[in-house]
Amino acid sequence: MARLVLKFGGTSVGTIDRIKNVARKVKQEVDAGHEVAVVVSAMSGVTNQLVDYVKQVGRLADEREYDAVVASGEQVTSGLLAIALQEIGIPARSWQGWQIPLITDDVHGKARIERIDSADLVARMATGEVAVVAGFQGVSKDGRIATLGRGGSDTSAVALAAAVQAERCDIYTDVDGVYTTDPRIVTKARKLGRITYEEMLEMASLGAKVLQTRSVEMAMKHRVRVQVLSTFEEAAGSALPGTLVVDEDEIVEQELVSGIAYSRDEAKVTLVGVEDRPGVAAAIFGPLTDAAINVDMIVQNVSEDGTTTDMTFTVTKADLDRTVQVLEGAKADLKYRRLTADSNVVKVSVIGVGMRSHAGVAQRMFKALADRGINIQVISTSEIKVSVLIAEEYTELALRALHTAYGLDQA
Ligand code: ASP
Ligand code: MG
Repeated sequence: MARLVLKFGGTSVGTIDRIKNVARKVKQEVDAGHEVAVVVSAMSGVTNQLVDYVKQVGRLADEREYDAVVASGEQVTSGLLAIALQEIGIPARSWQGWQIPLITDDVHGKARIERIDSADLVARMATGEVAVVAGFQGVSKDGRIATLGRGGSDTSAVALAAAVQAERCDIYTDVDGVYTTDPRIVTKARKLGRITYEEMLEMASLGAKVLQTRSVEMAMKHRVRVQVLSTFEEAAGSALPGTLVVDEDEIVEQELVSGIAYSRDEAKVTLVGVEDRPGVAAAIFGPLTDAAINVDMIVQNVSEDGTTTDMTFTVTKADLDRTVQVLEGAKADLKYRRLTADSNVVKVSVIGVGMRSHAGVAQRMFKALADRGINIQVISTSEIKVSVLIAEEYTELALRALHTAYGLDQA
């Protein structure tokens, strides 16, 4: 009999009926003989509403009080689910972050988990009591409620699974697993049975919204087996109906490319005619770093005349205005001729641990895009991914072409 952590997101607990449905799912695992801890999000929309309340009262609200307010959504759902379980005969108790305790650093609003003292909780689980844990929250070392950043209840669940040495952490959500690419765009997208931590990490940080990136980092670090599955579909017989996120050696047959992610949250900036001399890159990116602007892809063109060159890079759309401001402010130092900004771009990435040991993966991407007449503006690569920046209007065409080119289409 295994120890399991089950996590239910905002839509899964979005109404009272849905909370009752979750209670039935939990009961199935208890009836199967498992020791169960459940981590819940706030009802969908509630955290947004709470954040909005805070903003209405004070634009620069004290972060500790922000946390006191926004953590309350999870307190409500943990109590309601405990009641719903008791109503169907399952012993259950709610646990807030401070009651476990789940101890965080003191970066309120975006706290990191430092440790979980799970002994009491484990002892209660051993008596057959379901622990219903409020996700997204912990207690900082100075004794105040702290939240883990938006989407943080995924991280709560994985951290708890690591702390109680759970056999698996099941993340119940409104999709039934992780797909080769966005099925809303590519109808031939397939659900993956398994994916490695590293690939999932890339998928999450490159635009696939199924899991919070930090939760995947946490799973990888502590080797927690994670399953992503749907709350709303009954598993048709199969023991593990969703997608398992696991270590590489749990995957027998490794595809070259496992998934294709895309992010519309990119903007391209080009500095035309900057000096081609040592120290130029440092001079450009230094002020951006000081302004806490993250630069993603970078390309420096060859210099035609040996004295000046063009530098192109990407930032998030949200940072574009500030980026332009900073660079215009530094124009006297940088001595570029012209600055252009373009937010009509998308970053498309092919991801797969299989490409570590195979040549020609990038080439297949470039060819598939060239065959459709899609121009590549910037390229970046890592050991397990190739990303290209293209014009946004080609997003759908590019995803479909690449999905076919890597043999990912479902029959
Ligand atoms: N309720 C929090 C949020 O909306 C945490 C979560 O759902 O993961 O960000
Ligand atoms: Mg979520």
